[in-house]
Amino acid sequence: MKIVRTISEVRAEPREGTVGLVPTMGAFHEGHLALFHAAREENDLVVASLFVNPTQFGAGEDLDKYPRDEERDARLAEEAGVDVLFAPDANELYPPGFQTWVEVEELGSRLEGEHRPGHFRGVATICLKLFNIVRPDRAYFGQKDAQQVAVVKRMVRDLDHEVQIRVVPTVRDADGLALSSRNAYLSPQERELALQLPRALATKDPQLACARLNGLDVDYIEIADFEPRVLAAAVRVGKTRLIDNVILEVPCQASAWLGRDQDKESP
Ligand code: AMP
Repeated sequence: MKIVRTISEVRAEPREGTVGLVPTMGAFHEGHLALFHAAREENDLVVASLFVNPTQFGAGEDLDKYPRDEERDARLAEEAGVDVLFAPDANELYPPGFQTWVEVEELGSRLEGEHRPGHFRGVATICLKLFNIVRPDRAYFGQKDAQQVAVVKRMVRDLDHEVQIRVVPTVRDADGLALSSRNAYLSPQERELALQLPRALATKDPQLACARLNGLDVDYIEIADFEPRVLAAAVRVGKTRLIDNVILEVPCQASAWLGRDQDKESP
């Protein structure tokens, strides 16, 4: 696997056949690896980007303490079949004078967008930049971030980009918690509390789910009309903010575990 740091190095990579791109912020877990594997299966060249994108973090969010371990990430990416790891620094992507932004107005201002103003402007802008730099045939995103998928798909449609967006089901730990780089912030006690989130979503019912989140600091829990429709939620456990969702239209597709657990718990 080759590690490259500049836009010109990415553009100079020899390319034959199809290119798959997996945009990431690092601190890899099995969720990221599932994206790498999906990209590996479908493409001749797999490019992963590793960039903690400052413009999608709000003031007072966890940009500075976001987990970073490039050596470990590079090893995991290589094992998962990534050919090129694009790990630029912030100046490469946001040089002095940068002032052009992509705003997906309506989709980007609800739910996560309401609680994290500017977040999806940063996401859409960095994704479009990465699409323009890597020029992938396909780009891979996780269902875990359902609104991100909706925003990126809308942007691709609205701006007539040719990249195909592929969505990979949410990968969960054995206890049901959706894997997230931010889970590393949770103490064992907080992790126990955090399990209320997947358990609540497993009800697939906003009222029931809300009742099951009793005691947690809930930013929102709502049905979102993405494609497919989901029940989506964001909660704070201590200082850690977690998001998750469950698909409503296709039962158990996004998470086999939730379906099994529901069966176990239901009388
Ligand atoms: P991040 O590094 O957190 O920006 O995530 C990079 C990509 O991995 C995004 O498309 C996420 O939706 C996806 N992802 C993160 N966690 C999971 C998970 N548990 N299952 C599937 N995909 C995930």
